[in-house]
Amino acid sequence: MKYLKKHYLSKFEEYDDHEKVLEIEDDDLHAFISIHNTNLGPAVGGTRLFPYKSREDALVDVLRLSRGMTYKCAISGVSFGGGKGVIVGDPQSSNKDEILEKYARIIRKLDGKFFTGEDVGISESDVQKMLLISPYFIGRSTLAGDPSPYAALSTYWCIKVVAKNIFGSSSLEGIKIGIKGIGKVGSKLAELVGSEGAKLFIADTDKTKLTNLQNRIANISILNSDIIHQSKVDIYSPCAMGNEFTFQTITEVNSKAICGAANNQLNSDEVGDWFFTHNKIYAPDYIANAGGLINVVDELENDGYKKSRVIKRIKKVAASLKTILKISKEKKIPTNRIADSFAESIFRPSQSSKKFTLA
Ligand code: NAD
Repeated sequence: MKYLKKHYLSKFEEYDDHEKVLEIEDDDLHAFISIHNTNLGPAVGGTRLFPYKSREDALVDVLRLSRGMTYKCAISGVSFGGGKGVIVGDPQSSNKDEILEKYARIIRKLDGKFFTGEDVGISESDVQKMLLISPYFIGRSTLAGDPSPYAALSTYWCIKVVAKNIFGSSSLEGIKIGIKGIGKVGSKLAELVGSEGAKLFIADTDKTKLTNLQNRIANISILNSDIIHQSKVDIYSPCAMGNEFTFQTITEVNSKAICGAANNQLNSDEVGDWFFTHNKIYAPDYIANAGGLINVVDELENDGYKKSRVIKRIKKVAASLKTILKISKEKKIPTNRIADSFAESIFRPSQSSKKFTLA
């Protein structure tokens, strides 16, 4: 287990003066834990188990994801900072339990400086097993549980804000919505928007998930994962992996708006600027998916987990999106820039001239 040095990390474009980045490497476990900023409180962020192609891919991902968590915490109004864990590995591997056991021991050693839980490749039951080793896991089955329904809920409410902005009504009846990735969040989101009469277009690399969902929800069409972002839907909702929008892929986007749960959708801030100048509404990812975080960190509140507070905070985040879209239109500033600037004014007030007030 070693802390990566700043002079090494600064070679990465994604490095943003992260407070600590830890690499753990032994025979079974290769993982990174990144703590971006703890000005607001201890770091929180899920742990991802993914078969990264290289060590650098994993490191870049943890740097980007932990930074995003700082912004998400700030905009969600919770007193925590940004962190993230990534484990290099296959979620289907036969030694998953041993890998997670070792990882949980590392989390225990960090002694409450980092609280973590589910993400891609890590399930609610994995979290319960790791809780037996370390108390610093969140998303307990008896309390907040699986964060994904809440991430889907905030995305759904944000989609309604976006629909209102485009069509003058938040009703999703007859609105065409494309969802890429129908895993834990995407499938729940499909149910929510489908129950309101949206016309659904879905894609996933896992064919079984597609047919399962098609059997459960009416009015659903299946598209190819590689081209779903090109479809002429009203709202496109990326709910698979991040880094979807690059200067190459954005020119192929045909929807009027983008509002999805995947973390780190924009390859760079300039990609967000491009959406703005091309009249495409972009709902910042960490606002759309904030519900998952809001739900699990509620376990750490002094008075214990309260679902009513979770719902109130998720509604507030969706209201913030409404304000961001308004400011964007009036002041002609890309939505991602407004959101970042607002978040920075909360977690780094001395370095930012607060320019915007949200709901
Ligand atoms: P998941 O692993 O359950 O689902 C991801 C789905 O995307 C899977 O069905 C997978 O087959 C599919 N997929 C992967 N690559 C794809 C591709 N190239 N094309 C099409 N489909 C592809 O994960 P999840 O928990 O639903 O999370 C989805 C996204 O939302 C992730 O980016 C995650 O970081 C983010 N997120 C999740 C939560 C949460 O509470 N689960 C909270 C906030 C953000």
